[in-house]
Amino acid sequence: VIRDARTLASGGTLEVDVCIIGAGPAGIAMAKALAGTSLTVLILESGGFDEEAETTTLSEGEVIGDPIRDYFSIQTLQQTRARAFGGTTQRWGGFCRPLTPIDFETRPYQSVAGWPFGRAELDPWYELAQPICQLGAYNYDAAWWASQLGTPAPLALGPTVTTGLIQKNPVRFGWVHRPAIQAASNVLVLHHANVTLLAATAGGDHVDHLVVRTLSGVQGTVRASAYVLAAGGIEVPRLLLASNDVVPAGLGNSSGTVGRYFADHNQVVASFAPLSVTPGELYHTATASMAFPTPENPNNRVYAQGVIDLAESTMRSEGLPHLHIETYIEDAPYYPTQDEGVTGADIADLFKAEARPLPSIFGATVFFEPVLHADSRVTLSPTDVDALGMPRVRLDHRRSPLDATHLERGVHVMAQAFGETGLGRLQFAGGWVTAEPNPPNPPPEQHLLPYLRVTTQGDTPTNVPYGTTYHHMCTTRMDLDPSLGVVDSNCRTHDVDNLYIAGSSVFPTAPGSHPTLTIVALALRLADHLVDQLGEP
Ligand SMILES: Cc1cc2nc3c(=O)[nH]c(=O)nc-3n(C[C@H](O)[C@H](O)[C@H](O)COP(=O)(O)OP(=O)(O)OC[C@H]3O[C@@H](n4cnc5c(N)ncnc54)[C@H](O)[C@@H]3O)c2cc1C
Repeated sequence: VIRDARTLASGGTLEVDVCIIGAGPAGIAMAKALAGTSLTVLILESGGFDEEAETTTLSEGEVIGDPIRDYFSIQTLQQTRARAFGGTTQRWGGFCRPLTPIDFETRPYQSVAGWPFGRAELDPWYELAQPICQLGAYNYDAAWWASQLGTPAPLALGPTVTTGLIQKNPVRFGWVHRPAIQAASNVLVLHHANVTLLAATAGGDHVDHLVVRTLSGVQGTVRASAYVLAAGGIEVPRLLLASNDVVPAGLGNSSGTVGRYFADHNQVVASFAPLSVTPGELYHTATASMAFPTPENPNNRVYAQGVIDLAESTMRSEGLPHLHIETYIEDAPYYPTQDEGVTGADIADLFKAEARPLPSIFGATVFFEPVLHADSRVTLSPTDVDALGMPRVRLDHRRSPLDATHLERGVHVMAQAFGETGLGRLQFAGGWVTAEPNPPNPPPEQHLLPYLRVTTQGDTPTNVPYGTTYHHMCTTRMDLDPSLGVVDSNCRTHDVDNLYIAGSSVFPTAPGSHPTLTIVALALRLADHLVDQLGEP
């Protein structure tokens, strides 16, 4: 059942078994899992069915430190998430894949522990997460997909790198799951309902009730047996820090780590690879696959897309993080144009070195895990409040200097693997690459150089602009040690006995895969845990 909180009378109290704050992928996955159980479930969602300007102002905040930027420009905090039923899937790209086994381990370059469980723990939940994200089979083996789709098998690239796979379907969770949630008699969604305070009992170890407000002036209270914060990786620490009437440092924050270790994946463009094979042959990017109808788009398609990963053995032997490259320009006759930041001399050398005719060339995005930084941090603004009186966010975004080392070494290993195959060459050249579908004078394949627009700015792995990916992670880390993290392995806060967190803020580290499939898997696992805890027969 779905209702508008603005139509309710002020001053009321709702009592339920489970109250979930936020209806993004995490909240919606939990609602789907709890629908039809004996538990009464309430979801409080700040937004409506679409993004609205007035509600979006609640997400405004200040970024200091490294900017949050896409390839072209610096982004505001409100551009990096969405307040609406369905959450940030209003804007997302839909790239999904599970974490790999090494992603769960404690890695040598991190100052914090890895995940308290391995991939096997999440496998059954990933399998259930696939249909919720409207993806295909829970199989991320590129060769298997090639055989299913009748496309060429990925070429072997040698022992240091491997072909990985991403499934992609940018479905809007609010659209595709709305009918089922509307029909669930034990689930009530209140939209336009903002939680502004988690009111704790005297010791700060139990949530007594929530204060809920609409921008139109309705105010009410919610009491639940269990509360789940599913408000995204920035709003979750904001709510905990702002709930400071009983515990001045913020609820659940005895470790002092609420808001710390803010991490986002590093995304750097570009590397260039002139190839003597097509990118499709190199690692097949399946552009046709299975069709999944959705209400929004009956012709919606799921894509299986190849990526090139560092092999697990390389990550171990080199002490490197999970790093992969994605191609975004596929086959000729699309010629990449380097728009910004290219090291002209390097590129010229690369192309001169490839004297033979080249059927193909691509630009690559390098995507990799950041090294966590304790001072990369979400805090509350000391001065600014939003329209509901809540302190705004101040995000001090920082990167470890090790990230540049990892970028340089990781791309070097990739380039060596390419070179050794004789199939092509890869070189780092920071900057953005655009496709030029119809070059004015189509060049002979061996004379691509004139089509590279070259600047004199000499970017290197240390000064190239790093893009972010709007994956807001690690701000309420899972750690078995309550002095080092915020939640335990069941996503329950160490300090507060009836408060749980769903979303990428609980990730102990920020491994190099897109987060949402893992968010959904963890949310389903948490729903199952709550059913156990709260006595479903
Ligand atoms: C441009 C872009 C592209 C992306 N592409 C990808 C991709 O390809 N693959 C991928 O895995 N991820 C991608 N992401 C990230 C992905 O969208 C997030 O990982 C995912 O949406 C997080 O889910 P969530 O449920 O934890 O939080 P959200 O989706 O952010 O949902 C949180 C919800 O909580 C609500 N809320 C917040 N505060 C309150 C409050 N006080 N009271 C009540 N409700 C509240 C919000 O309104 C929102 O609806 C992308 C993000 C962006 C911005």
